[in-house]
Parts: sequence; structure tokens; C-alpha cells
Amino acid sequence: MTATDLPAPSLGLDIGGSKVHGLVLDGHSRVLAQRVRPTEHGDAGVLTSAVSVARECLALAGLDAVALSGVGVGIPGRIDHRGGVVHTAVNLGVDRLELGPLLSDALGGVGVAVDNDVKVTALGAADHLGRPDADLTYLNFGTGVSAATLAGGRLVRGGGNLAGEIGHFPIDLTAGRCGCGQYGCIEVFAGGGQITRRLAGLAVPVTLAGLLQAADSGDADAVAEAARIATGIAAAVHLVVLAHGSTAVVLGGGVIRTAPGLVDLVRKRLDEQAALSEFVASLDLAGRITVLPAEHPLAAIGAALVGRGVPPRPMIAVA
Ligand SMILES: [Zn+2]
Repeated sequence: MTATDLPAPSLGLDIGGSKVHGLVLDGHSRVLAQRVRPTEHGDAGVLTSAVSVARECLALAGLDAVALSGVGVGIPGRIDHRGGVVHTAVNLGVDRLELGPLLSDALGGVGVAVDNDVKVTALGAADHLGRPDADLTYLNFGTGVSAATLAGGRLVRGGGNLAGEIGHFPIDLTAGRCGCGQYGCIEVFAGGGQITRRLAGLAVPVTLAGLLQAADSGDADAVAEAARIATGIAAAVHLVVLAHGSTAVVLGGGVIRTAPGLVDLVRKRLDEQAALSEFVASLDLAGRITVLPAEHPLAAIGAALVGRGVPPRPMIAVA
């Protein structure tokens, strides 16, 4: 590839419940400039935050918006990625926001692509691992649990962009009830919302950050809870490997960041399952797990990758 084949820089925005992380990425996937600021909530607030961070990043990089090959946004919630519309992002106080078109208008008509934050993180993870054409799944253990799979480097979306909602796959019908109405979903075991509620209700309440230490010191409730979470994470790994044949399974999200030691328990759990089954042993589930450095802005980088080559928005309405 010659220098002239390289895409022009693109801008990525990772819009989370507490902060917006923006960066400009060049054609070699090098970060030229980045900026983080708190997220204002509500439709107008999210748009204002996005526009501010985008403009600050461009100023830092010394670029005009028209010089970009496009803008990508990763944001939680149900996303119509074709229209750039965010539906029901509860943590951001957004009910329905035409973020793509509005952000494009604010940036002089540059093309804007909007996608779910977990999906853009999968792209960022593949880029970080130097495997842009990977068969890879990113598993996000946040308040809820969801997955984003790349098959040969391309996002698996399915009808209605549904693919990846594996948090609501039931793994134990005798376990507790999920917010979705089913019993024993993966999210019941390993979703941060359910974990936090359970830990606060223990005879000796403990935080997730302190859970493994409490387990190590012999607290039986903590041991059981750590095993429960590891079971949920292990089931998610097992599921995506069987469903998609992902050669790399990247773990991330608040639960993993807060208690990284859980990953050792997950590997142990998968090794125990492998010891019972030659078939499972042949899958080498534990060996497929990767944990990426938490400080690396994978979602913002993935967003910038999504933004590469998005066509500009037509500024003249067609009758
Ligand atoms: Zn559920």
C-alpha cells in the first residue's frame, strides 16, 4: 500500500454515561489528538458534548472537519446504524436522537456513522491485536452483558441489528429472575447490575472490588458469588465460540475492570469443563480469552475506524 492509498484521518467518539472520549486517527491507526470531557445527559446534552469534543479534537489535530474521511460514534443503546439514530439510551437520558445527521450538520456535512458502543469496541480490539480480519468476539460485562462478533473482520449484525444480545441467553432455569422476565440468563450471573444487588444483600456485604479478597480470606458467601460470576462469564465464552467459532474472545466492561482476577476463575472453570469432555478440551476455550489493557481507548479507536470513508451528507435536499 502506498501513502496515497491510505485513508484520510477520521474522528472517533466514544460516548459513555459519564464521559465522551474523542480522538483523531490517521490512516496508519495512529492517534493524532484526543480529548475527554464529561457527558451532558438528555438529547441536547449528548449532542452538545459530542460536538464540543469533536471540535476540540479537530483543533488539537490542526484539521478542518472537511479534511476527515468521516466520523464514527460508539454509544450505548439501541442504534439504527443506517439512519444514525439512537433509540432508548437509558444511561444517557436519550429516548430518540438523530445523532448522525445532527452531528454531521454541526461539522459542515462530514459523513457520520453511529453504532453501538460494544460493536465499535470489537473493531477497536481487532485493530489493537493487529488482526483487522479476525474471527473475534468482544464480550462486554457492564451493567448488562452483550457481545459483538467480527466474522472475517466484519460485524455480525443479524436482522434488526439483534446479534450479540447473549446476556439474555438462559443458562440455568433454576437461577434468579432477569430484568427481561426469563430465569437464569447469563446477565443474572455476570451482569454488573445484578452482581451489585446480590453483593449488597450478603450477610457481610462486600463490593465487587473486594469480592475476590473476601473469597480468599474464606468468606463462604464471597466464594459462592465469585464462582457464580465466573460461571456466567465462562458460559458466555463457551456460547460465542460454539456459535461463531471466534478464535479470540476479548473480555471487557466494568465487571472485568473492577475485578480482573475473575478472569483466572473463568479460565479455571473452563479447564474443569475441558477435563470432563474431550470435545470441550479440543476447543481450548481458556486459550482463546484475551484481556486488553483497560486504559486503551478501544471504543474511541473502533469508532474512528467505523467513521473511515463514510460519505459526506448531501447538503442540498433532493425534491
Ligand atoms: Zn434476561
